Amino acid sequence: MAFESLAERLQGTMDRMKGRGKVNEDDVKDMMREVRLALLEADVNFKVVKQFVKDVRERAVGQEVMESLTPGQQVIKVVNEELTKLMGGEQVKINTASRPPTVVMMVGLQGAGKTTTTGKLALHLRKKHNRKPLMAAADIYRPAAIDQLETLGKQLDMPVFSMGNQVNPVEIATKAVEQAKEDNHDYVIVDTAGRLHVDDNLMDELDQIKAAVNPDEVLLVVDAMTGQDAVNVAETFHERLGITGIVMTKLDGDTRGGAAISVKAVTGQPIKFAGMGEKTDALEPFHPERMASRILG
Ligand code: GDP
Repeated sequence: MAFESLAERLQGTMDRMKGRGKVNEDDVKDMMREVRLALLEADVNFKVVKQFVKDVRERAVGQEVMESLTPGQQVIKVVNEELTKLMGGEQVKINTASRPPTVVMMVGLQGAGKTTTTGKLALHLRKKHNRKPLMAAADIYRPAAIDQLETLGKQLDMPVFSMGNQVNPVEIATKAVEQAKEDNHDYVIVDTAGRLHVDDNLMDELDQIKAAVNPDEVLLVVDAMTGQDAVNVAETFHERLGITGIVMTKLDGDTRGGAAISVKAVTGQPIKFAGMGEKTDALEPFHPERMASRILG
């Protein structure tokens, strides 16, 4: 899908503003109408957009135009900075326990990319941080989930803890952490079950796993392509379970990824990683300023 960039959208207003020393209120209003449309098209939640446009308008009106920038560029700069701020500003790293192993619990709906991301994260920790992770297969419901993780383990030469699908996931997670301690793994990444929709059984089970293993990091995996649904999922998981970070997958697809703004806004938790493809090395630390530029096009 071809998106029109914000710069293109602002061209008309910018032409009219040429040569002015100050950004005046009407110009800003015109520009903010374009900004508003661009954000809505990028799938940013409308309430977030409303507040955002108000904040930026206040900041932009009356500003002296910097010599090096046109008024339009200046508005884009303000919009960019504010979007970056909304996503937390800085890149936020994965939590690390003061005493290893760091326990990471992966949660999310089925199909979001949990199992794939478990493998990607393990590889990332080994390659970029020189860590020794253990992956644990605690999704006993999706028929192929355990096999999928074991296959990933072989492919990456990464150990997988599994007890089959007849054992309670709480016990699997608990034993996995014990095993990690014994074998001196510094991370345990627990792949939990998802469902097609959020339901009470799922949340109860995740609650129990969380209580049993006391994770340092509860990473919610959401699919960027699902837009506002991803936002609702994030809100529910955070209310019910308490998450500490988000992985947004499928950002290699043709979405502007505006849901990134909203998931941070509704949960207050940072997006820590971005999934950029199906391959095991397609995981990147999430950078708010790069995402802001992508959302604006
Ligand atoms: P789970 O049910 O949450 O464990 O989901 P899976 O890990 O099985 O992933 C579901 C599908 O999404 C698989 O086909 C993955 O290859 C795919 N997938 C996961 N992450 C990404 C990503 O970042 N980009 C793309 N394009 N596909 C992804």
